[in-house]
Amino acid sequence: MRIVVCVKQVPGTSDAKIDPNTKRIIREGIKSIMNPFDLYAIEAAVQLRERFGGEVIALSMGPERASAVIREAMAIGADRGALLSDRAFGGSDTWATSYALSRAIDTIDALSKSSGGVDLVICGKQAVDGDTAQVGPGIAAHLGYSQAAYVAAVRGVKQDSITVQRMNEDGYDVCEVAFPAVITVVKGLNQPRVPTLRGVLAARAADVPIWKPADIGAALDKIGLDASPTRVVKTAPPEPRGGETVRIAGTPAESAARLVELLKARELI
Ligand SMILES: Cc1cc2nc3c(=O)[nH]c(=O)nc-3n(C[C@H](O)[C@H](O)[C@H](O)COP(=O)(O)OP(=O)(O)OC[C@H]3O[C@@H](n4cnc5c(N)ncnc54)[C@H](O)[C@@H]3O)c2cc1C
Repeated sequence: MRIVVCVKQVPGTSDAKIDPNTKRIIREGIKSIMNPFDLYAIEAAVQLRERFGGEVIALSMGPERASAVIREAMAIGADRGALLSDRAFGGSDTWATSYALSRAIDTIDALSKSSGGVDLVICGKQAVDGDTAQVGPGIAAHLGYSQAAYVAAVRGVKQDSITVQRMNEDGYDVCEVAFPAVITVVKGLNQPRVPTLRGVLAARAADVPIWKPADIGAALDKIGLDASPTRVVKTAPPEPRGGETVRIAGTPAESAARLVELLKARELI
């Protein structure tokens, strides 16, 4: 099985500030980490390779320092990786990001066609900075791959498909998804392993190729800020909730009765 895992470098703090002019996160001076959901994606890919053979390729798009997340993925068990990095990719929204990543996946697929090409792409369910959860499904749409989002368990793998349990609002669905496929994964799918010292040292010494738009056949009018159909025009923290806090004392029965009384008084029940 050949599996591509998309990993994103994100600010390692919830206090990241937004530049009021560009509406982009100010990343300077902030420690960066791998998007936490992507750790589950790598672990899932490495477990599948351990069971069925093949290779795991970590892929990211970002500034050159984002090669750190590729190395981290390799320390955990990815066999190799590549980083899309060029000013032309800068400012891409989810549509342009998923287009660029899909071009890279298509390139990996074409280069490995003689040994079966790409079977599966795994993404985290969402990145903790942009938080849109659109990039995985966007990659599937650009490539015409089948997809399942919010995957909480892998139920089984056949020659030409993977069966997954995906979360929905009322419970879960079990879906058999034909290869090539994209899945996005949620926390709790597995327990991401801690990298070994040997893995860390090998990853540090590994070559992480940097791919430019021409290397992946990406059209310049489909990447970057100008090609992005979405503009973030405003970002704001949620308004603090108003209202008073009422403490209810007494036995559980008395408290419950008082709570019902208060809710009725406010016409909430
Ligand atoms: C505060 C804020 C709000 C934003 N709002 C929007 C918006 O409403 N619409 C919009 O189009 N863009 C928006 N953006 C831009 C958006 O963050 C970028 O397009 C980004 O490159 C991908 O979107 P995401 O972070 O939401 O990823 P998600 O779709 O949430 O990420 C899901 C998964 O996709 C993969 N992935 C995502 N980005 C990369 C990458 N660069 N490299 C490798 N894998 C990746 C990872 O596996 C990740 O776990 C916003 C950005 C910020 C900072």
